[in-house]
Amino acid sequence: TVRTRIAPSPTGDPHVGTAYVALFNLCFARQHGGQFILRIEDTDQTRSTSESEQDILQALRWLGLGWDEGPDVGGPHGPYRQSERKDSYRQYAMELVDKGHAFYCFRTPEELDVIREERKAQGLNPGIKGDLELPAEEVQRRLEAGDPYVIRMKVPDEGTCVINDMLRGTIEIDWSQVDCQILLKSDGMPTYHLANVVDDHAMAITHVLRGEEWINSAPKHKLLYEYFGWDMPELCHLPLLRNPDKSKLSKRKNPTSINFYERMGFLPEAVINYLGRMGWSMPDEREKFSVGEMIENFDIQRVSLGGPIFDVEKLRWLNGLWLREDVSDDEFVERLSNWWFREDALRSLIPHVKGRAEVFSDVAPMAAFMFSGMLDLQPEQFAHNKLEEGQVRRVLQFALWRLEAQRHWSKENIFADIKDLAKAMDLKMGEFMFPIFVAIAGTPNSWSVMDSMALLGPDMTRARLRHALN
Ligand code: ATP
Ligand code: GLU
Repeated sequence: TVRTRIAPSPTGDPHVGTAYVALFNLCFARQHGGQFILRIEDTDQTRSTSESEQDILQALRWLGLGWDEGPDVGGPHGPYRQSERKDSYRQYAMELVDKGHAFYCFRTPEELDVIREERKAQGLNPGIKGDLELPAEEVQRRLEAGDPYVIRMKVPDEGTCVINDMLRGTIEIDWSQVDCQILLKSDGMPTYHLANVVDDHAMAITHVLRGEEWINSAPKHKLLYEYFGWDMPELCHLPLLRNPDKSKLSKRKNPTSINFYERMGFLPEAVINYLGRMGWSMPDEREKFSVGEMIENFDIQRVSLGGPIFDVEKLRWLNGLWLREDVSDDEFVERLSNWWFREDALRSLIPHVKGRAEVFSDVAPMAAFMFSGMLDLQPEQFAHNKLEEGQVRRVLQFALWRLEAQRHWSKENIFADIKDLAKAMDLKMGEFMFPIFVAIAGTPNSWSVMDSMALLGPDMTRARLRHALN
């Protein structure tokens, strides 16, 4: 049976790219009467969080993308979280060392930098190659001394690796371009490459549909399958989503978090429909279709490789179509009120509105910006007697840049970023905050804008700052 999987790393907000790849994996599996698996790749312990994992699962569920096996529903090939499968990776890495396909490497990153530079100076490929392997006695001595090490796979020095891709046919990559990849890190955790191959095999995955950013990893994976003596799944690298300016979709230019689209009040069926149109089309080219219709008509060969453009304006248009044509009046009432009166969202507003309102009708105007998309802002609103126009722009721009880099979205961290910037620009906090208030809340007379930003989330905050700069 066909078995596909989505293997997100829980290191941030749920990405629309993850949903896109999940959708194509789901359709391919269902079309063949197979299974679709969700596996959490959380081997990067410094960046993975359980909140992010929860967010990703929740976002995929919101979109209606269900899986047959996964960390929440279990299944015969569990556990479905790599951090819980740690021991097996070490064994497999050792098996490769024993077979002579991998070796201990004791070089520090600094030493490797020097080696790379030396190789470059000699006109050689600066990659990390198997000549770094030490004689067995030396390895033994250093292991006994307790020196830190990683385990690297051996990779041929020359020749070409031929990869077969379901969409691209054969892809050739010179082995000279491929490093002796680390399989096991010095903290004992596997890298993506080892864990991914071991688990795809253990979970009996037959087809790997993933973003084209992974093409360069394919030779390493192919070699690992050979070393282990396992059959390799079929590979299919999907074209990456792009911004309207054709660059790779990135949060610097476009909201990429599924949470943003939920907060904006998009319908999940429209978002999924739109993702289904990314590089794929119905045989009759119709624009509006459900996941069920997509599965019925699915054909992976209809994926076109030109980079599909994720354009929020087009998505809005499609969403409007769904709203008018497929949502009855009763459903409209129900769905709108579920969106508006989400208990957790309302509850988070209580500390701010309760002390400021006398009657309920005071609440709507003061809280409207929390339920809005982009605000209707006029240049006059940014006028301030202590700040020139250029300073206002700099405040907004610097805040945007700084918050783009913020990986841990919380009121405290936002506050620390802002305080730091105000100091660097030699502005009083009140002055620095003024343009931020206007950009986020539409008025300087709102409650703590740090709270608002924390609640609105990173993508909405960035989108509003960008909007204010336009
Ligand atoms: P950004 O540039 O916005 O920070 P990123 O590349 O850092 O994005 P990641 O957090 O690394 O995003 O990726 C999260 C998931 O989304 C990964 O599984 C990745 O494959 C997928 N992804 C990221 N960008 C795209 C894209 N342009 N098209 C399709 N999938 C993508
Ligand atoms: N963990 C990888 C990611 O975050 C999985 C890539 C793959 O599908 O092999 O995208």
